[in-house]
Amino acid sequence: MRPDVLNPLFAEAETLEGVGPKIAKPLEKLGLTRVRDVAYHLPDRFVTRRPVENLDAASVGEQVVVPLTVTEHRASRSARGPYSVMAIDALGNHVSLTYFGRASYTAKKQLPVGAKRWVAGRLDQYGQMLQIVHPDHLSEDSADLLGTLNEPVYSLSDGLTQPKIAGLVAQALERLPELPEWIEPGQFAKMQWPAWADALRLAHKGEHAAARDRLAYDELLANSLALMLVRADNRRRRGQALGGDGSLRGRLDLPFPLTGAQKRSIGEIERDLAQDRPMLRLLQGDVGSGKTVVALEAMLIAVEGGAQAALLAPTEILARQHYDTLRRMLGPTGVEIALLTGRDKGRARESILMGLHDGSIPIVVGTHAIFQDAVTYRNLGLVVIDEQHRFGVSQRLMLASKGKVAPHTLAMTATPIPRSLTLAQYGEMDVSRLDEMPPGRQAIDTVVVSADRTGEIVERLARQLDGGAQAYWVCPMVRELESEDIAAAEARYAALKNRFGDQVVLVHGQLKPEIKDAAMERFASGTAKLLVATTVIEVGVDVPNATLMVIEQAERFGLAQLHQLRGRVGRGAKKSVCVLLRGETLSETGKERLALMRETQDGFRLAEEDLRLRGGGELLGTRQSGDTPFRVADLDQIQRLLPIAHEDARLLMERDGGLTGERGAAARVLLYLFERDWGVQLLRGG
Ligand code: ADP
Ligand code: MG
Repeated sequence: MRPDVLNPLFAEAETLEGVGPKIAKPLEKLGLTRVRDVAYHLPDRFVTRRPVENLDAASVGEQVVVPLTVTEHRASRSARGPYSVMAIDALGNHVSLTYFGRASYTAKKQLPVGAKRWVAGRLDQYGQMLQIVHPDHLSEDSADLLGTLNEPVYSLSDGLTQPKIAGLVAQALERLPELPEWIEPGQFAKMQWPAWADALRLAHKGEHAAARDRLAYDELLANSLALMLVRADNRRRRGQALGGDGSLRGRLDLPFPLTGAQKRSIGEIERDLAQDRPMLRLLQGDVGSGKTVVALEAMLIAVEGGAQAALLAPTEILARQHYDTLRRMLGPTGVEIALLTGRDKGRARESILMGLHDGSIPIVVGTHAIFQDAVTYRNLGLVVIDEQHRFGVSQRLMLASKGKVAPHTLAMTATPIPRSLTLAQYGEMDVSRLDEMPPGRQAIDTVVVSADRTGEIVERLARQLDGGAQAYWVCPMVRELESEDIAAAEARYAALKNRFGDQVVLVHGQLKPEIKDAAMERFASGTAKLLVATTVIEVGVDVPNATLMVIEQAERFGLAQLHQLRGRVGRGAKKSVCVLLRGETLSETGKERLALMRETQDGFRLAEEDLRLRGGGELLGTRQSGDTPFRVADLDQIQRLLPIAHEDARLLMERDGGLTGERGAAARVLLYLFERDWGVQLLRGG
């Protein structure tokens, strides 16, 4: 049960004044569904705006407050395009106040032609035109704007504005309860951190490092504690010892010898499976390092030991790919394998469910459909989870509850994360690393090219496509407003489609899943030759014929992310090239990062360097979702504070293992606050 003291924080965001269904939607997009989420929606940064009399006195990229007169409204021809309110300053300079999505309705109302307004926002240039995208404030007289020259800037989604979200945050902060202190008193005093509620209030007011650190530390502590509870619980659970006699593995006819790293990992897994304590192991290996074969061997050990094995993939496409590969490799062993996804219906589905129930199907591959209530196993001994980073710990635990005795778990991830983050993310697991690539891989040529040479790159692309190869073109997601990124990607798509016609497809996060899937499938089958995408190219998708990867604004990506994207090419026999388009101005760190991409293809090394370089102070404009399991703590804080939090959690567990006593009770509140309450639930079970 969640402690009552937290109830005000877990009230729906709709209970805040001014949040109806219209606002609830964009809030949900940002992950803000409860009062707590709103209170924890910390500013990306703070702006100081400069009041200027006209645009000549401002420079591009600067935050300003300027008086303007509205001259004209221009709707874009396409529905997704921008809505421009044209205006002039006192000197007759033209500027476009640009709106995307629903915000254009507000603009129509608040900016009638002829109106004089003080406009606050960032002055940008788009082509030859000056523009201010989504002005932060509009006012009929300057006084109230000039009064608020230092303001938090929050990340937004369509339908939200800075003032709106600031108002909601203020309301949420008024509802903060008094919570007991969970930080160890010595630590708390030494760091001179503010108390929890004060820290939240300060973090919204200005750049307050101690407040931000305290909030990050809380999150790290909650995470460490929860993972330790999982681990401790796992030690107490009974599993089944699965000893393989090698009879099935011996019949495998692999077309290649295993690498040393593969052999070592299989050995580690085999030892774990032979124990009657359930395995909790993470297999980390770069894209292409050969995780599938390791999974196959593990599953065969389970089958040799008389149990069933299930492989869970995050998407339908991946599940199918795995099924095809595994079925081919399993051929000579005679071991049956089934595919089960949400799409299967009727008879076929029934017969698979029967086979799993009576044990006649020893191996199943699928999406989360394989763990629905209707699915029962005769004796599930091993669960393999591919692309683990797509699933949270709570899902891992849910899967583990499927067997009568806890099944062994092998989680696999291709995201090379630094050792320190491995601890944060997978602290409850043992780790095997595939740190050696199968021999004979073609290196991917990586080139860094200035964006003003985009035209040449398009010509290069044309030659590729003419030669029958396929290619990716990736646009970044970097702005505060997703719709602006989408607009940029759509514009690029339109331009490329203009040039290359129907063989171009587009994939981005705002498309319906069916449309996205259809586009992916056209590309995977080779009907489409060029895939334009915003960062999310389905993990693991394998198109060996794709040999060119172009990434726009490469400097805005994390190295690990660039590496993952680059890994989409270089999968066939032909030479592959990755083109990193960079902006005109690049910081020293930015240069260093892109140079590293040219220099190495070792994902683990890139991950470590990325952490070092980013920790060095240069924060990207945006947090990269999916990088870490944290919402509050950034990479720098993880590096500085995680070791301390981890140690504190360990002491708390050792001295107060049942989380009893005063600090134990406070720690429970913390776990619930960060929704690591599955940790608490395990406590009761044990
Ligand atoms: P990932 O780790 O990305 O899942 P895969 O398991 O899909 O990698 O393997 C990538 C490719 O490498 C596959 O075509 C696979 O058959 C091949 N492969 C795996 N292990 C070896 C090996 N030891 N020697 C040569 N090729 C291998
Ligand atoms: Mg794989």
